[in-house]
Amino acid sequence: MLKKEIKAILEKSKEWGWVLEPDAQKIFTLYGFKTPKYSVAREAVQAVSMAHQIGYPVVAKIVSPAVVHKSDVKGVVVGIKDDQTLIQTLERLSKIDGFVGMLIAEMVKGLELIIGAKNDFQFGPMVLLGMGGVGVEIYKDVSLRMAPLKDRDADHMIQELTARKLLTGYRSSEPINLNALKKTIVNFSKLMMDLQDIVESVDLNPVMCTAKTCTVVDSRIMLKK
Ligand code: ADP
Ligand code: MG
Repeated sequence: MLKKEIKAILEKSKEWGWVLEPDAQKIFTLYGFKTPKYSVAREAVQAVSMAHQIGYPVVAKIVSPAVVHKSDVKGVVVGIKDDQTLIQTLERLSKIDGFVGMLIAEMVKGLELIIGAKNDFQFGPMVLLGMGGVGVEIYKDVSLRMAPLKDRDADHMIQELTARKLLTGYRSSEPINLNALKKTIVNFSKLMMDLQDIVESVDLNPVMCTAKTCTVVDSRIMLKK
C-alpha cells in the first residue's frame, strides 16, 4: 500500500507527466530507501544556508519540469566547496529553461550502479540492474528480471553481471555491501508492483554502493500517459 504522501506527490506530478527529482527522492525516502540529505533553494541566501546545513562539499542540480536529463543541459555540478561557487552555480542554473529551483545535496561516494524498471503492458515491471555511469551505455552489462523479485532473484541478477567482480572487490577496490544492494533491489521491485498502474518507467541512476550501504543518488519516475 502506498502512503498518502506518496500518492499526493504522484497526483501533483501528472501535470508534467514525470516526477521532479526532489519529489522522486521524497518518494524513495518514504519507501525506505537511503537517500542523500537535500534541500531545494530558489535564491542565494537560502542556498547558502541550506549548503551550510548539509555541509560542504555539496552537489547542485537544476530542478525544472522541462529538464529530464539534467547533465545534458550542464545542470549538475558536483563537489561545490564554497559559498561563492554555490551562488555562481545558482545564477547559471536559474537561467535554464523552466527553472523552479536548485537542488542541493550531500556528496555521496561509492560504486555507481543503475537499478531501473520498465512497465511492460503485458508482463508488468521488468527490473534491470547494471553498472551505472558512462559504463551503462558502453558495455550494456545488465541483468533483467520480471517483478516481483525475491532475495534469491536479486542475488542471481548480481551474479549475472560481467562486472560483478567490481562489486565483490577487485584489486584495490573495496567490496560493496551485497546485502544492502539485494535489499535495495527487492524493495525497488516491491515499489514497482505498487506503482504498476501509474508508472511507465522508473530509474535509479546512479545508486551508489559502498562497503556499508547503498544510496539512491538520482531517481526519475515517468508516469503513464
Ligand atoms: P542526470 O542523470 O539527470 O544527468 P544525476 O543526478 O544522475 O543527473 O547526476 C549526474 C551525475 O552526477 C551522477 O551520475 C553522479 O555521478 C553525479 N552525482 C549526482 N548527485 C550526486 C551526489 N549526491 N553525490 C555524488 N555524485 C553525484
Ligand atoms: Mg542520473
